[in-house]
Amino acid sequence: MALYRDQQLKLYNSLTGKKEVFTPLNEGHVGMYVCGPTVYSNVHLGNCRTFMSFDMIFRYLKHLEYKVRYVRNITDAGHLEDDEIGEGEDKIAKKARLEQIEPMEVVQRYTVDFHNILQKFNLLPPSIEPTATGHIIEQIEIIKEILEKGYAYEINGSVYFDVVKFNQSHEYGKLSGRRLEDMISNTRELTAQDEKRNPQDFALWKKAEPQHIMRWPSPWGDGFPGWHLECTAMSTKYLGETFDIHGGGMDLKFPHHECEIAQSEASTGKTPVKYWLHANMLTMNGKKMAKSTGNNILPNEIFSGENDLLSKAYSPAVVRFFMMQAHYTSILDLSDEALMASEKGYQRLMDALGIIDSLESGKTSAMDISSWRQRCYDAMNDDFNSPVLIAVLFEGVRYINQVREGKASLTAEDLSILKKTMKDFVFDVLGLESQTLDSAISEKLSGAVSLLIQMRNEARASKDFATSDKIRDELSALGIQLMDGKEGTTFSIS
Ligand code: AMP
Ligand code: ZN
Repeated sequence: MALYRDQQLKLYNSLTGKKEVFTPLNEGHVGMYVCGPTVYSNVHLGNCRTFMSFDMIFRYLKHLEYKVRYVRNITDAGHLEDDEIGEGEDKIAKKARLEQIEPMEVVQRYTVDFHNILQKFNLLPPSIEPTATGHIIEQIEIIKEILEKGYAYEINGSVYFDVVKFNQSHEYGKLSGRRLEDMISNTRELTAQDEKRNPQDFALWKKAEPQHIMRWPSPWGDGFPGWHLECTAMSTKYLGETFDIHGGGMDLKFPHHECEIAQSEASTGKTPVKYWLHANMLTMNGKKMAKSTGNNILPNEIFSGENDLLSKAYSPAVVRFFMMQAHYTSILDLSDEALMASEKGYQRLMDALGIIDSLESGKTSAMDISSWRQRCYDAMNDDFNSPVLIAVLFEGVRYINQVREGKASLTAEDLSILKKTMKDFVFDVLGLESQTLDSAISEKLSGAVSLLIQMRNEARASKDFATSDKIRDELSALGIQLMDGKEGTTFSIS
């Protein structure tokens, strides 16, 4: 087969509101930037959905044999409590104050958690993972540039972006579809204490008050950078002034991404991004999953089943399959029923892949395997339509089962296309892992865990709770959860 990428990949560009043919700036290469997490708390499943969506996109671009440089940052400073107006305490500094630890301890703890969780979901690491605090100098340079071009002003040691001035010669709001006039009539008036000239202006640099611990020297005095600026600095540094794809959750479109565009256009005179991709939200009980409202679930609660929403534990691969069953631009609602249905589907897929290598070829082919493979590509080339891809892969599952049962045959060539395509898309593109164990090992493991359950029961009967807890906790640390029920103790492996 010719280069996979000779086929036309189309993607939905939030900037133009259209599906467009993907043509990278440099033939064969893709530069992609995705806004990373603010590491002040454990990532919830909603955050994970966005990162999984872009992992699937990264994987498909790689499958198309592009050389992809994927940059996903870590926000470890500058993200203030009120995203919308950019005010309040720094999220990381606040957590550090409440826990009486160093801000960098907060950053370390939640960066490690983020990496652990993404690894469980089988996300590939990005090519570069830069931090905001590691790029203060670059951010200061951009502020100087914007000041020089006249699109920012300094006041009392802080620097603000002048949105009204910028909008006279540029289009502020073009990504989010907002008009500055509407924003002006909808936002609160400035008070006498406000330093901004207009309520829409946003901070590029904020003066640090004496109690603010996360501070750096700058030409305007000690302070810290505004949240939007870090992404402009890091994307420009690693991908250039104009690059191919910028992604993030839908909720970042405004103000974060709008401000990124304004900062780049003001400092370089160039529009920074060719294709803007926005991933939609994971909801729970119909409402956006969010840290701030408490309407969220942590990945570990799903892996252990310890949450009132769930009747049981689900493995990371099942959760990933559940996410891939929705298009990345659609809202997806999490529920126990939906996860249970995904678990069945995932198992059917894995069962088919488990027998695929033992299939034997025949003299003729009963199915048109080449056109089936083409439909896999067509699905992904249509703005990464993973739910359609999965439906086509289930046709593949049917073929596998028919060949296995002797109800249909495939030539050796078609059989090898079927095998390769199934494995490529399930493992490499969707990033699903086979979590089925060899049946002999599984039998031995099951015997060993039953023995431990029996020993735990004996320890409990003799009131030796130290031993019984130790058995439960150490098994749990290995990813084996014991569940006590009416019919005795059962276990699940995540
Ligand atoms: P944050 O750490 O708050 O900056 O968020 C990290 C990423 O998670 C951003 O791209 C957000 O858009 C995304 N995100 C936050 N909540 C959700 C959600 N409920 N569903 C999907 N993505 C989300
Ligand atoms: Zn960002």
